[in-house]
Amino acid sequence: MFKKGSKIYSIINNKCPKCNEGQFFEDNNMLHLKNLLKMNTYCPTCGFKYEIEPAFYYGAMYVSYGLTVGGAIVTFIILWLIGLDLLTIFIGIFIMLILFTPLTLRISRLLYGNIFIHYDPNYKNEDGIKFMNKKKTLTRNSI
Ligand SMILES: [Zn+2]
Repeated sequence: MFKKGSKIYSIINNKCPKCNEGQFFEDNNMLHLKNLLKMNTYCPTCGFKYEIEPAFYYGAMYVSYGLTVGGAIVTFIILWLIGLDLLTIFIGIFIMLILFTPLTLRISRLLYGNIFIHYDPNYKNEDGIKFMNKKKTLTRNSI
């Protein structure tokens, strides 16, 4: 359903929006909170520079805001339909917001990146690939 080359594939699988192969975030597991927002500088596979202009991903705040408000509204409706009182509903929304923060942060960056970066399977940036390989050997040697 979500084949390679679609934006949804990139967003769900933490893949580079350009080639859909390299990892977007360094750590695939969003529960490792220490590495939650650590992004690769370049795509390890195609060498695409993720930050296409300085502070590019600040725009993801607006996407994150939209996701958070949407999630709060959906939670409110579900808890209201169950028949809970208003205070319990707001406590439920608060808990939902805290639990979904790692997911919201990551999805918002991937969504924002996918809005502006388009899929191109033939894209190659040799400098970016060299940079990522050098970084890989440096971190391997330091361990
Ligand atoms: Zn790539």
